[in-house]
This record gives sequence, structure tokens and C-alpha cells, in this order.
Amino acid sequence: MKITIAGAGAMGSRFGLMLHRGGNDVTLIDGWPAHVNEIKEHGLKANYNGEELTADLPIELQSDISSDEKTDLIILFTKAMQLDAMLQDIKPLIADHTKVLCLLNGIGHEDIVEKYVPMENIFIGNTMWTAGLEGPGKVKLFGDGSVELQNLGHGQEETAIALAKVLSDSGLNAAYSDNIHYSIYRKACVNGTMNGLCTILDTNMAGLGATQPAHEMVATIVNEFATVAAHEGVHLDVPEVIAHVEECFDPETIGLHYPSMYQDLITNHRLTEIDYINGAISRKGKKYGLATPYCDFLTQLIHSKEEILKA
Ligand code: NAD
Repeated sequence: MKITIAGAGAMGSRFGLMLHRGGNDVTLIDGWPAHVNEIKEHGLKANYNGEELTADLPIELQSDISSDEKTDLIILFTKAMQLDAMLQDIKPLIADHTKVLCLLNGIGHEDIVEKYVPMENIFIGNTMWTAGLEGPGKVKLFGDGSVELQNLGHGQEETAIALAKVLSDSGLNAAYSDNIHYSIYRKACVNGTMNGLCTILDTNMAGLGATQPAHEMVATIVNEFATVAAHEGVHLDVPEVIAHVEECFDPETIGLHYPSMYQDLITNHRLTEIDYINGAISRKGKKYGLATPYCDFLTQLIHSKEEILKA
């Protein structure tokens, strides 16, 4: 199977590397010239659960795709705000049979993917794998994870199950979900609380959890997500989701971790995915006539911080 990873940062590199080691024909596509050149010249370097390795993976700059050889599967792993431009640039690789799997964090990416790919070829999912980009051409890949995915098009369940098997055969631990929008909203509640709050408050998740107002802020934001989700027919179990979010506070597990938005904005002065997490809830809330004041405010705070830091 010919697999294209569109967006080969931390997560795209993880999936590309694991699928390559699993024996698939993998090509990376990315938009960061320094990263692309480094991998072209020296291979993809990875600290893979403590083992230093180099993988000889083909990579192309997305603005410079020379081949129009079609691909069987595209896995999208840009940041949310890079997704539309990536799909535009990889159009030459998309054939009638090409399946597209979107695993970005956030809500509503299918609205963008649908502009380029027929519904029956679109699959969306959610992953618990993590990855870190240490610099151009170098990733740090630790721990275990999983993937859930589902077809958007009617009657494509068997294809979704087959795609999950392709990922699992390379150790990515993927499963078919019959309710992927629930999982996506549930994970978005984690990102919609930990990311923005830790970034603005300049703390890790345990630090946030140790503050007195943390529970009320988390509960209010989760309730805003749940109200919007219910309008779309997704009924979150709010107490369970709040408890799930608050597991992040535990310093014995992941509490000492700074969320990716913190690393993007505070450490690296890069733009964030806020418009596709809390910002998506704000937009949908306005569309459905639902009040989402905490998501509105958090989105504005992050945008102000992006401007202050000249992200
Ligand atoms: P990433 O920032 O590592 O890579 C995304 C893109 O940004 C890539 O094209 C990369 O080359 C580019 N990029 C990275 N650093 C850059 C720099 N300094 N200058 C210019 N370009 C740069 O993003 P990611 O962590 O792989 O995330 C991809 C998607 O997966 C996002 O939606 C994210 O929320 C989600 N996700 C991430 C993780 C994780 O642990 N990293 C886990 C689950 C989901």
C-alpha cells in the first residue's frame, strides 16, 4: 500500500516511521523547508523509546510536489490551520480510490477535507499517541498509544476496519469506532481546557489542577462543549468527561507535562490551534444561538498572546 503522510512534524513522523518499519511504502510531505532538507540529506532521526535510529524515508516539500503518482492512503497530520493549504498542494496525489484519514486534534476538519475528497473516501479519527519534534529532521517518540477511526461516507465500514488493520499491523494499535464524533468531542474537552488554560496561566497541568478555581473552569468549559455537541446529536457524559479531563492534573502520571499549545506558543512562539478547539465551539455556539462565554474569552486571550509574542 502506498501511504502519504501529509504533515510530517512530530506526529506525522511517528506514523510515517512506524508504517515504514511495518513494511509499507511511505512518503512524507511537509511544508517546512529546513525539516524537509534535513530528512532528504540525513534521513529522519528518531529517539524511539530510547533507541537512536535513522530512517531513510522519502520526503517532498508540499509546494514542490513533482510527481503526480497517485497514492492509496493519505494520513493528514498538519496543524489545523495548515490543513487547507496542504490539501490544495497534494491534489495531484489524490485519485478516485485514494482514502484520506484525518487525525488532527480539534473539531470540524471534515468540512475542509470535503472540499478536496469525496465523502466516501474520508475517514476521521482520534489518537492517543504522542510525539515531539526536537528540531528539523529529529523526533522524540516515547510511550504507547492508540487510534480510533470511522468512515464518514455511508457503507464504508469495512474499509474503515481495513484501514485500522493497516495501522495496527505496524503497531499503531488502531480500532474501528462506531461513534467517532463522541471520542473527538471527548478529547477536544481535554485540549479545550488544558491547552488554553495552562498556556495563559503559564503552568503545567498539575500546577493548574492545584489552583482553587481549576475545577469550576474545567466544568464550565466542558459544559460549553457538551451543549454545542448535543446540538449536533453527540451527547457527552459530562461528569465522566470532567473526571477524564481532571486525570491530567495528576503529577504521578502526566500532570508535570506542559500541553502542546504551551510548547507551540510560549516556548516556540508559533500560532496555535485555538480556532479549531475553543474557537470552534464559539463559532458553532453563535451559529446555534448558544452562549459559550468561557470558550469565547479563552480564544481571545490566546489570540492576544499570539500577537504579544509575534507568533
Ligand atoms: P508539529 O508542529 O510537530 O508539525 C505540524 C507541522 O508544523 C509540520 O508540517 C511541521 O513540519 C511544522 N513545523 C513544526 N515546527 C516548525 C517550525 N519551528 N517552523 C516551521 N514549521 C514547523 O505538529 P504535531 O505535534 O505533529 O501535530 C499534528 C496534529 O496532531 C495537530 O492537530 C495536533 O494537535 C495533533 N496531535 C499532536 C500530538 C502530539 O503529541 N504532538 C498528539 C495527538 C494529536
